[in-house]
Amino acid sequence: MSEKIKIGILAIQGDYQAHSKMLDRLGVPWTYIRRPEDIDGIGGIILPGGESTTHIKVMREEGVWDALEQFAARGGAFFGTCAGAILLAREVHNPPQASLALLDVSILRNGYGRQLASDVHEGKTKLSDRPIEMVFIRAPIIESVGENVEVLAKDAAHPVLVQQGPILAATFHPELTNDPTVHRHFVEMVRLQGHQPAAAKSPERASSRATR
Ligand code: GLN
Repeated sequence: MSEKIKIGILAIQGDYQAHSKMLDRLGVPWTYIRRPEDIDGIGGIILPGGESTTHIKVMREEGVWDALEQFAARGGAFFGTCAGAILLAREVHNPPQASLALLDVSILRNGYGRQLASDVHEGKTKLSDRPIEMVFIRAPIIESVGENVEVLAKDAAHPVLVQQGPILAATFHPELTNDPTVHRHFVEMVRLQGHQPAAAKSPERASSRATR
């Protein structure tokens, strides 16, 4: 645990502060991401819960969306919770929406029907022997996963914690509990990723401002 890694947390809106508190507990350095240059020197990126529509809009305005795509192309690690999981999904339905498409899952944004569907459950994960607390707040539902996606936890027959290589996603909010199990796992993923050759050379920053 001696290597220096720094985690970037997307800090536009939503519960990003809860993620930073969790990383403080684990003694892991972090920084907030609001501009493309905030990603420099970052080992992994957390996409918090909140309103994914707002996150997309602001990220595009600020050039952060393109910077995240470039970070992903270099093999960077991501952890998305709730709205963040929606941003990572390959396909988003109900209603459909753009995404970074880094994780081979199909996800329903308003999965539980009403926006009010919120609940706290206890559930087993493949990450530890003890069950963890799972806080669901207007949670999306993962309706299908590709064959390269590992399901680390299920709730009511749906995958709720999944991983594909350096991409981790939870439809619940581990950052809103006292249990650091999932964040610790992500930090380990980032450390591991740091030992692997970069998937691609960093594209030129200048191209990240291309208009859509
Ligand atoms: N349903 C919300 C969205 O579409 C996510 C809810 C959450 O992050 N708690 O962004």
